[in-house]
Amino acid sequence: MASKTLNDWQQRAQSLKIEGRAFIDGAYVNAASGQTFDCISPIDGRLLTPVAECGEADINAAVAAARRAFNQGVWAGLNPRARKAVMHKFADLLRANLDELALLETLDMGKPIGDSTTVDIPGAAYCVQWYGEAIDKIGGEIAPADHHLVGLVDRVPVGVVAAVVPWNFPILMASWKFAPALAAGNSVVLKPSEKSPLTAIRVAALAKEAGIPDGVFNVVPGGGAAGKLLALHMDVDCLAFTGSTAVGKQIMQCAGQSNLKRVWLELGGKSANIVLPDCPDMERAARSAAGAIFFNMGEMCTAGSRLLVHRSIKDAFLEKVREAAKAYTPGHPLDPATNMGAIVDGIQLERVLSYIAIGKGEAKLLTGGERAEPVSGGHYVQPTMFDCPTGKERVACEEIFGPVLSVITFDTVEEAIRIANDSDYGLAAAVWTGDLTCAHDTARQLRAGTVWVNCYDEGGDMNFPFGGFKQSGNGRDKSLHALEKYTELRSTLVRLR
Ligand code: NDP
Repeated sequence: MASKTLNDWQQRAQSLKIEGRAFIDGAYVNAASGQTFDCISPIDGRLLTPVAECGEADINAAVAAARRAFNQGVWAGLNPRARKAVMHKFADLLRANLDELALLETLDMGKPIGDSTTVDIPGAAYCVQWYGEAIDKIGGEIAPADHHLVGLVDRVPVGVVAAVVPWNFPILMASWKFAPALAAGNSVVLKPSEKSPLTAIRVAALAKEAGIPDGVFNVVPGGGAAGKLLALHMDVDCLAFTGSTAVGKQIMQCAGQSNLKRVWLELGGKSANIVLPDCPDMERAARSAAGAIFFNMGEMCTAGSRLLVHRSIKDAFLEKVREAAKAYTPGHPLDPATNMGAIVDGIQLERVLSYIAIGKGEAKLLTGGERAEPVSGGHYVQPTMFDCPTGKERVACEEIFGPVLSVITFDTVEEAIRIANDSDYGLAAAVWTGDLTCAHDTARQLRAGTVWVNCYDEGGDMNFPFGGFKQSGNGRDKSLHALEKYTELRSTLVRLR
């Protein structure tokens, strides 16, 4: 079958039925208050649907349903093989509904349809499948103990897990929370961002169709107030969050004010991408540097937003990056040829434009720096690069979360490492060098949760833990380590005689 065109996707969008209600205890429901908020497409400013604005009554109902399901053991109590089969069916259903989910994602948050179809939805399905596979593979331990004892150590589900997730990879980030939480046997209450709630709402029905029992998977759309209600809730055992460092700090405080729920935070970043003069492939490094900041409109916590280039190669290398940036000229997000779509909403657009204005005052503009308008009524920004003479400029230090690259020049590896680590964040970093010793030595000194050598943003496999040092958060998504977040360790000591 020929691949779809812009026209095909637009036609499909016109006939798309969009669900905007919350999903609580196995059914779609309006908010108890009847309140809704408008879900607007950043592509062209069009109203997609009103969405249920969940308030206290809805959050309480979702948490109560989750608690009841957990206490009844309808999910955690199932045979591990049976839960695995449900998770696999869930993954299959995500794949079977790829086009619809990808379309919802692109309409809702503005990312290119080519990314939604190849990265976001397949990535979420893979995540659900991966954690499903783990369910019947992991057991506990028999700990060394006195001869008269049998000592068992096992992991038990923590109970009711709230997942509060952002808008940059809406269903993918959600899956990184709900898949391990479900695999570990918990009930989940998922709050998507009000900027991008649609795939989460749709996926709830697929979870039910797959066989996830009522109450085990709930979706409560709403704004930050809904997230705060979950953070303060006395019957939520664990809250897993991805978003800004500022809100992450508030959530920790809410946990302290309420029931000391376990809080796991995946927060911001200002990641350094270091290019040394002996970089083995300058063309690839330049393409990768552009992709590191312009993919997903730069709305990525791992964005390689600080490009650290050695003085001796700076001019030639930056020319290549500028050339590579042309591939990210903003276009219609539903056009499969587009690599750079719309900024998620008007607030984020203003934030990005205000940083660009600041950058123009403190650094040298190398390319871009303006709004774009491939589709009227939408929110688009040109890929933008600044040369930052000191590295202390605001655009070089603060997370912008948009397609804005700050270039910083260095003279020695030691200086590059110092600049890279001179940040409140510590999510990711990269180094490009042909010297194996230098690569290992540098990687070892970079204070970041993920370090790439001669690549950027590789690691689609679920096997790699993902998360940050310092104010980039705590705990890890992905990998078997993520399961630890959603379980409590229990020691059982049995006296034999
Ligand atoms: P937020 O941190 O505000 O939002 C993330 C999630 O938390 C959303 O679901 C949001 O709901 C919810 N939320 C907001 N306020 C509260 C609160 N007080 N208590 C509990 N939950 C809350 O990010 P923004 O969307 O405002 O983006 C602002 C900046 O955050 C970005 O420019 C970027 O720098 C950073 N960010 C980082 C992300 C990452 O992946 N590390 C992802 C997203 C943003 P709602 O959206 O409905 O208000």
